[in-house]
This record gives sequence, C-alpha cells and structure tokens, in this order.
Amino acid sequence: MTPLKTEIDTLIIGAGQAGVAMSEHLTRLDIPHLVLEKNRIAESWRSRRWDSLVANGPAWHDRFPGMEFPGCSPDSFVAKEQVADYFVSYAAMNQSPIRTGVEVLSVERNQGQAGFTVTTSEGVINAQRVVAATGPFQRPVIPAIAPQLSRVQQLHSADYKNPQQLPEGGVLVIGAGSSGVQIADELQRAGKPVWLSVGPHDRPPRAYRGRDFCWWLGVLGLWDAAASQPGKEHVTIAVSGARGGHTVDFRRLAAQGVNLVGLTESFDDETVRFQNDLAVNIQRGDENYLALLDAADAYIARNGLDLPPEPAAREFLADPACVTHPQLSLNLTDAGITSIIWATGYVTDYSWLKVNAFNEQGKPQHQRGVSSEPGVYFLGLPWLSRRGSTFIWGVWHDAKFIADQIAIQRQYQQYRAPSDSL
Ligand SMILES: Cc1cc2nc3c(=O)[nH]c(=O)nc-3n(C[C@H](O)[C@H](O)[C@H](O)COP(=O)(O)OP(=O)(O)OC[C@H]3O[C@@H](n4cnc5c(N)ncnc54)[C@H](O)[C@@H]3O)c2cc1C
Repeated sequence: MTPLKTEIDTLIIGAGQAGVAMSEHLTRLDIPHLVLEKNRIAESWRSRRWDSLVANGPAWHDRFPGMEFPGCSPDSFVAKEQVADYFVSYAAMNQSPIRTGVEVLSVERNQGQAGFTVTTSEGVINAQRVVAATGPFQRPVIPAIAPQLSRVQQLHSADYKNPQQLPEGGVLVIGAGSSGVQIADELQRAGKPVWLSVGPHDRPPRAYRGRDFCWWLGVLGLWDAAASQPGKEHVTIAVSGARGGHTVDFRRLAAQGVNLVGLTESFDDETVRFQNDLAVNIQRGDENYLALLDAADAYIARNGLDLPPEPAAREFLADPACVTHPQLSLNLTDAGITSIIWATGYVTDYSWLKVNAFNEQGKPQHQRGVSSEPGVYFLGLPWLSRRGSTFIWGVWHDAKFIADQIAIQRQYQQYRAPSDSL
C-alpha cells in the first residue's frame, strides 16, 4: 500500500454518506483532497444497524442525485447492505480518493503557519483544512438509570442484530423512535413477549393520498425547516420502511401484542417504573400525524391536484387497555423479561478534534457547517442547515454548500497582489 501523503489541501474524516458526498463536490471544484475512514466505506450502514433494516425513505428519495439504486423499484425500501454498496459504487464512480482502515487520532491547529497537524494511525498529515464527517450518531447512549442486573442482558439498538441474538424470554425496548418501534415489532413477530416504552414522538403517515411522507415533507418545505420547533428538539420521529413500508401506529402494535408503557423513569433493582404519560404521548403523536394530513389536504386543494381522497387515514383503532389503564411499574423477573434494548439515541464524540470549534457545552459551533475555527467544517450533524441534514439526500446539499465555502476561502488565500512580488 502506498504511504499516506504528508501534505493535503482538504482532509475529509469519515467515509459515510457525508464523506462520499463531500468528496464528490470537492472533485467537481478541482480541490485536492483525501478521505480517511477508520473502517470501511459506509461502515455504519453495515455493522451498526440490525440485520433486517431497510431505508426509511423510498429508493427514489433516499439517494444522491448522481445515481439511482441499481435494480430497485423507485418506490421500494432498500436493504441496509444495499445502501452501503450504493455508497461504495458512488465513491468508485467519482474516483473519490478514499483510504480505508486509517483512523484520525487527533487534529491540532498549526502554530505560526496555516493548516492543521493531523495524526493518524498511519502517520502525520499536514492539512490546510479538515471536514469532520464522522457521523451524527457516533456513541450510543444508555441513560444512567440503566440497572446493574447480571440476569438481564442489556444492549443498545446500535448492537442489536436479530431476535436470535437475545436469550429466551421477554424484552423491554426503551425508546420508540424509528429504531425502537421497528425492533419491538420484529421481536414481537418473532414470538417474544415485548414491552415498548413510548416517550414523546412524531409519527408522520407512511403515505397519504398516494404520496410517501418523504414527498409530503419535501413539497411542504418541512425537510428544509431551518430549526426544530421550540420544545420539539428532542422529539424522535417514528417511521418504518419495513415490510414494504407502513405507518407507525402504536394502537396497532398493541393490538398485535406489544405491551405499551410510558417513558421509563427509574429502576429499583428488579422493578422498573414508567411515567404516566403514555396516553398523552400517543395523543401528541396523533396530533402530529393529523397535522401532516391537514397540511397535505390544504396543499392538494391549493394546487388543484387530482390525488385520491383517503378518509380512512383519519380513522384510529380504539385505545387499547395498556393506554387506558397504563402499567406504571413492572417487575422484570415476574414479567419474564431477560433483555433490555436501549433505543435511546447517540451523541457525537469529537475528542480527537482539538480546535476552537465548540461551545461551552462541547457542542460544535458552526453556521451551516462552517465552524468557529477557520478551516474546520462539520458535515452530517442534525439540523446542520435544515431538518434533512442527517439524511442521505440532505447531506449531499450541505456538502455542496461547504465545498463552495472551501473554494471561496482558497480563492482568497491564493490571491497575490502585484506588490507581493516586489
Ligand atoms: C438506525 C438508523 C437508520 C437510519 N436510516 C436512514 C434512512 O433510511 N435514510 C436516511 O436518509 N438516513 C437514515 N439514517 C440517518 C443517517 O443517514 C445515517 O446515520 C448515516 O449513517 C449518517 O451518515 P454519515 O456519513 O453522516 O455518518 P456515518 O455513516 O456514521 O459515517 C461516519 C464515518 O466516519 C468514520 N469515522 C468516525 N471517526 C473516525 C476517525 N476518527 N477517523 C476516521 N474515520 C472515522 C466511521 O467509521 C464512519 O464510517 C439512519 C440512522 C440510523 C441510526
């Protein structure tokens, strides 16, 4: 293998979808660059997702503009390995200069000269600028309330693969965003007794009046929303592309046999307590769902579209007993629960990025990815520029913007005044 270059204009760290998109845009602008990836291209899609996962959006939507998913119906939901393969092919198509198996260990600003000293597992590189494309979901978070119980297997959704991986017995899935609901559904269908702890959530309809919700969010301008609504910053979105795609419906999950409980509050040895908020969480999810139907109806009327009415989309099953008479505590042994899956999200980890690009809370400080440390850029973070920023289609547009910003800075830096040569 050829040794790493020691000088590079722009170094991209991470070859997930963000790094692959960034490389494409820098190539278009003729900006010399290198992508370093500690594992494989699109590693997160391969090893940090469960086996049966498919993309949450249809193939026509969850892709980059430059290539369609080969051999897929545009309305299908692509399996996670195929998503990873797509990014490998995309990078090959663009001849992206990606080095896999190289970890960036630290980035430090040079003193008295431009650029950054980047220490990697294969040597030191001097880079004029760096793009941190290391992902929005880096370190799985298990809340501090997690009990210390040797009898119960506990894992994060990032480590869940399939039902066979779990011991015999029931499962408590904590968190009902897209991961938690899909995992709970899969485990229940595999014959396991399942409890699902449901917090505040949004749940758009999978499709309405003949259009997928990805389309509706697009035409209604909601993917482009610049910031989450106040108070909704931490509200998770429950959607699923599984089994051809369907609306996440908690009442239907309950009818299927999943035991719904409210937000998990605490553990006291074997006893877990839940907040008495299940009904209100489901009601707020319904309100979010109905608001999207209303906005879609208004859009259809305003634009005179001929899309088939769908009154049945407004009919809900009756509230199940677990909602009307919520279970507020549960003894794990009595319930036969032998595993807990924490579908409780992730945090970022920029401990390797030793520059002035973070606020007092340690959060990246940036405007549309251009950080407060000149020459350092972030890509792929939630709400980097808009709601779509962490998603496949959205990160491509953010990468384009950042590439433009890099080109602008390079132009200034390359400028030489006639007097310079005197
Ligand atoms: C369960 C799940 C399902 C999702 N489904 C969808 C979906 O259907 N559609 C959609 O649009 N989005 C989806 N997303 C959101 C998003 O598309 C993915 O999280 C995606 O992987 C983010 O891409 P990324 O390139 O920003 O980060 P990642 O894919 O995480 O890539 C970051 C890369 O950086 C590498 N890296 C990290 N640190 C270093 C280092 N120090 N040195 C070198 N390399 C490093 C990692 O190995 C990794 O390969 C999903 C997310 C999750 C968690």
